[in-house]
Amino acid sequence: MLYDIVQAGDPVLRRPARPLAAEEIPTPFVQELIVSMRQTMHAAPGVGLAAPQVGEGLQVVVMEDTGGAPDTMSAARRDELGRTMLPFTVLVNPVVTPAGDETEEFFEGCLSVSGFSALVRRWRRVTVEALDAAGAPLHLDLEGWPARIVQHEADHLAGTLYLDRMDTRSFTTAANLGRHWKARPPAEIRAALGDE
Ligand code: ZN
Repeated sequence: MLYDIVQAGDPVLRRPARPLAAEEIPTPFVQELIVSMRQTMHAAPGVGLAAPQVGEGLQVVVMEDTGGAPDTMSAARRDELGRTMLPFTVLVNPVVTPAGDETEEFFEGCLSVSGFSALVRRWRRVTVEALDAAGAPLHLDLEGWPARIVQHEADHLAGTLYLDRMDTRSFTTAANLGRHWKARPPAEIRAALGDE
């Protein structure tokens, strides 16, 4: 089933999501939620989706990234973004912890803030503790773009949107991102925007 993706302004995006009890994970409701979230993420298309974005205030996240299509992104750009393949992953009750103190700033968008992007600073490396779709403990060490995806999705579970973390002067429509800003170094972008 394809969900309509909830857009900014819906209160469900601002409420902390409820953790699942281990015995809830195998229930048909949760298993069907996961399948439908995966289908909805693929259809959008997007690389991550959190349950509040489909109107369910539960701590469930799906993520998957092919690593950037070769026809739309150069190898150098993929390297710069740390855009590596992220296999389909389900996270229940994820806890995301920075690993090291390195941060990176890139444009990011959100399926719930459709049509816009902004520069967002994120930890370069994180560790993730969660349960998987079968309720088994899952530990992930992520860096680069997959680390950004999981930080974005974990924020959704806390009622936080990238809007709360963005460099507000960099906020742009998707069309203007392509026209003016995409693939420029963050320092150059900040100078062009009149940022500090
Ligand atoms: Zn989002």
